Amino acid sequence: MSLMTTAISRREFGKRIAALTSGAAFLPQVSSCSAPQSLSKRQALLAEFRKADAALLAEDGARQSAAEDFGGIIHRLPLAVIRPRSESDIVKAIRFAKRHTVQVAMRGQGHSMLGQCQVEQGIVIDSSTLNSVRMVTYDDRPAIEAGAGALWGALLDAAYAEKLTPPVNVDPGYLSVGGTLSTGGFGGRTWDDGFQIDHVLQLQVVTGEGRVVTCSDRRNTDLFNSILGGMGQTGLIVKAIIPLVAAPMHVRFFMLGYDDLPTAMADMTALSTNRRFKHLDGRSAVREGGGFTYNLEAGYFYDAPSAPADTELLGGLKFASKTVSTMTYEQYYRREAPLKPGRYPWLYLCLPASQFLQYAADVFANPEEHALSVPRFSVWNRDRVKRPLARLPNEDFVVRFQLSRMPPSTFTNMESLLRSNRALYERARDVGGTRLTTSALPFSQADWMDHYGPVWPWLSDMKKYFDPNRVLTPGPGMFPPMAL
Ligand SMILES: Cc1cc2nc3c(=O)[nH]c(=O)nc-3n(C[C@H](O)[C@H](O)[C@H](O)COP(=O)(O)OP(=O)(O)OC[C@H]3O[C@@H](n4cnc5c(N)ncnc54)[C@H](O)[C@@H]3O)c2cc1C
Repeated sequence: MSLMTTAISRREFGKRIAALTSGAAFLPQVSSCSAPQSLSKRQALLAEFRKADAALLAEDGARQSAAEDFGGIIHRLPLAVIRPRSESDIVKAIRFAKRHTVQVAMRGQGHSMLGQCQVEQGIVIDSSTLNSVRMVTYDDRPAIEAGAGALWGALLDAAYAEKLTPPVNVDPGYLSVGGTLSTGGFGGRTWDDGFQIDHVLQLQVVTGEGRVVTCSDRRNTDLFNSILGGMGQTGLIVKAIIPLVAAPMHVRFFMLGYDDLPTAMADMTALSTNRRFKHLDGRSAVREGGGFTYNLEAGYFYDAPSAPADTELLGGLKFASKTVSTMTYEQYYRREAPLKPGRYPWLYLCLPASQFLQYAADVFANPEEHALSVPRFSVWNRDRVKRPLARLPNEDFVVRFQLSRMPPSTFTNMESLLRSNRALYERARDVGGTRLTTSALPFSQADWMDHYGPVWPWLSDMKKYFDPNRVLTPGPGMFPPMAL
């Protein structure tokens, strides 16, 4: 379909996509709350929380902010927003939701792209008040305990004060701990250390039954595995304990430019095997006169004074240009500046490495498919990612392929970008590719079943056991709501 298709109104378009992601387009319809019903639910919620003087925000401003996300496409207005002071407020909200048949979702920093942290006429729990960070030991090793709403930047600052770091960082420090542990959490170390969810020692969660449970690889393991990368389907994370490793003092950061993708990929694959660098990532840039330059980011971690010789680090690589800088580790983990609010329907895919070059060549050759985007890519060792809900292609090397679409504020035809995302996903899926959970990608329950494949029956059992009333996190459209 052409990107020039006639645009429908934003409201109508949002409604259609919301219907799709809530499963309504594929599943039996459930009746939505009538106005008087939702009014009385709102009053009941106000009464319940006012009594206990909790941080319930029912005014329009708070509700409207919780009705938006980074994607800026879906708009679902909740009854109210709760800023919990502790797990007790979350328990209370979930128990209320069960009694009054409304739904609940936790919102971290709202960097979701298609309504994943929104709830129409439900309760949004804003985790930003759960932002404590403290150093702990776990099995006699250094670790950090962080509230779900703590930002990765704050966690990194606290750890780095002790010359420590979590093994895997996400690029921007302004994402929440609970948000990335619910989606997976990848970054420049993923090629060798997996996702952030591969490095969690313990979680405290509130289940869909309103029970506070501590879980780990040794205790309540099924719950633990269904939460990590589980998009808030079986429980909401209150706090997490994350292991820490020694942090370097400096990073020698190279940006290596390539004129063609095959050469860039060959070098990146070689670097993903020989472990010369700690940080590896790739991003393309539009070249003057047309086409793209493919840039490899390669970061060498070290402690001064043992500065590395660039010639040694770069030996054998076939780049056409390079820039290099030396950063402190703090400058390195703070290097991404926040983006201005807008409407950003990003797509994150993962392809088998054997299929990637052909797939990417087709996308790069078609301006409609990569429209308005900064394509990014990175080669990951598949076996480093171990949690069951991280669904990646079944090959030794897999390639993350991301289209960070940045439409200008004047662009109205968002539908065309979502259709393109969907078409690209289907083509990736047909060659063994998968999506990453945080994508602006319309997905039905049947798509989720296909995505999870052999682990779907287990996930479905976990949902029945820990959230039997399907109170939690309707946004991704994985499980249809019970009749409201
Ligand atoms: C500019 C930008 C850069 C990004 N960079 C990266 C990156 O480097 N690495 C990466 O992995 N992703 C990245 N993402 C993708 C992605 O959007 C985030 O990983 C994810 O949404 C987390 O952000 P958040 O804290 O705002 O969570 P939200 O978007 O608020 O939440 C994400 C999902 O998790 C659920 N959730 C949130 N908190 C909890 C909780 N405590 N318990 C249970 N469920 C919860 C929400 O309901 C929602 O379904 C980026 C996104 C943007 C916009």
